[in-house]
Amino acid sequence: MANKKSDTVLITKDGIRHDGRKKDDLRNISFEVGVLDRADGSALIHWGRNKILAAVYGPRELHPKHMQRPDQAYIRCEYRMATFSVPDRKSPAPKRREKEISKLLGEALEPALFTYLYPRSVIDVFIEVIQADGGTRCAAITAAALALADAGVPMRDLVAGCAAGNLAEKVVLDLDDVEDKEGMGDLPIAYLPNLEKVVLLQSDGVFNPDQYKEALDLLVPACKKIYQLQRDAITDKYSQITEEVSKELAEAAEEEAKKEEESAKDKKKDDDSKAKDDKKSKKATDDKKEKADEKDAKKKKDSKKPSRKKDNKASKDKEKEAKKD
Ligand code: UDP
Repeated sequence: MANKKSDTVLITKDGIRHDGRKKDDLRNISFEVGVLDRADGSALIHWGRNKILAAVYGPRELHPKHMQRPDQAYIRCEYRMATFSVPDRKSPAPKRREKEISKLLGEALEPALFTYLYPRSVIDVFIEVIQADGGTRCAAITAAALALADAGVPMRDLVAGCAAGNLAEKVVLDLDDVEDKEGMGDLPIAYLPNLEKVVLLQSDGVFNPDQYKEALDLLVPACKKIYQLQRDAITDKYSQITEEVSKELAEAAEEEAKKEEESAKDKKKDDDSKAKDDKKSKKATDDKKEKADEKDAKKKKDSKKPSRKKDNKASKDKEKEAKKD
């Protein structure tokens, strides 16, 4: 039966939870990658009713300089809850809880990154909880890892987070806000799924050794499942980009081919008209030459013929001379 702090039945004898899930069911999880234009990488996670935005800036030079690490990058993580993210308005001033979560999320992300590649630099990870419904630190680190991957920061592995809980001595997966507040215990972890390393483990409440083991047996496969969703989200984004780029390249190649075809057509047109002009001018020259030749021939012919006028004049002169005699 339920662990009663209110009238809510957290889990029935048949193992059905207050929202209809079984003990090893996760809430619905979905991601949007690259949601912020100004960030180097970003991701929005919807995990049940949690909505959490993660933004990554860097690697970039770290100021103030005294905080720089000479041999590696500093992962500066800031987890914040919006005032409107919870039922009772939260004070905008960072509380002890937010400072603690910021620190431990930064430390849990670090083993997934090749920080030695960026000495004296900082990688800023900003996490904004827009709507909270239990398990925000696990959802936050899951989104942050995706934002880091989106920023192109070299990574050994992604980081997936999930919490188990103790509801009336029954170990269950992925507590929501009601279960978190009314259950007997909460055990969040963050996990590197390929390296099979736990990078964050907290425990709040009561777990006996068997329950502890059972919780880990539920959490590790759950983190691997979440990792697959992360992979799909990032792959989807980059396959979309690849598709867009190949489409753009194909369009550019088509345009280029069209231009080349048009310029070839223009060249052919030019060549044809030039050939026509050449033909015309050749014909004109030939005609001119022919006419000139004809004229020359006529002139030559004329020069060979004795002139009748001259002959007449000569005979008249002869007659005149004869008369004189
Ligand atoms: N919560 C709240 N007000 C606060 C802090 C937390 O209502 O100021 C709620 C919120 O829904 C959160 C839940 O309490 O998810 C459990 O908080 P916890 O500190 O256990 O961290 P989480 O489970 O979110 O990682």
